[in-house]
Amino acid sequence: MRTGEDISLKLLKTLFIPIRAIPFMESSIIFQGISEKIGPVSLLVKGYKRPSSKLRGEIDILSVSHVLFYPKSTREVHTVREAKMIENYPNIYKNYNTLQECLKIGKILLHTTPRVSASSFFQLYRGLLKEVNRIDGVCKRSLYFGMLVKLLHLHGVFPKLDECVRCKSKKVAYISLKARGPLCPKCAKAYDDTLPYTPKMAQELFFLLSRDFSEISRFKPSSNTEDLIRQMTEIHITMDDENEVEKGSF
Ligand SMILES: [Zn+2]
Repeated sequence: MRTGEDISLKLLKTLFIPIRAIPFMESSIIFQGISEKIGPVSLLVKGYKRPSSKLRGEIDILSVSHVLFYPKSTREVHTVREAKMIENYPNIYKNYNTLQECLKIGKILLHTTPRVSASSFFQLYRGLLKEVNRIDGVCKRSLYFGMLVKLLHLHGVFPKLDECVRCKSKKVAYISLKARGPLCPKCAKAYDDTLPYTPKMAQELFFLLSRDFSEISRFKPSSNTEDLIRQMTEIHITMDDENEVEKGSF
């Protein structure tokens, strides 16, 4: 029997990392963040600021919580029914710059994470926060650039690092921002934005792409490689309402 209710309205349980907190009414907070199952979401926690709130302490900026809510397509903000914090990273708060870097990456994720395959983006971010917390709250340059390379790869940039993105030749000598990867000398002629691509840059990109964050935190990429990642990020990861991707301390 049809009741006229939206039958797709099922309680969703997902992991969630809040990135922004917006005060709402007198005692409530809207957390914007990344969920593992459906990507970026805005979640309203009613009465959050009240000392008696059960949800206070179970959900907070840059920590991981299990949350339960009814995802309504017609409504942008969903109300949290239950929340349980399962992981937090207190060391991130020890250093102001670290906190800003982690939030900056979080904001990139808020703007660019697709609803489908949100899980890989979520896990990547969780891995980064975990490592920054483990190494006592220092977000090293290498971690920051490693995160960007992994994100670019999820967005289809750098599909292969050792072959021409057009003809699959292994004789790569250039890289193009527009082509999204390496090019052989022949194919490079079709692009006006090519940069020299050395075996060292290829090795470093491969390292950042394939290793986990604990290995990356002990690594130092060259400035050529960092410049390339910075330019790739500017071109391929665009933000809607802010252009703050690369204007931080790095
Ligand atoms: Zn080619």
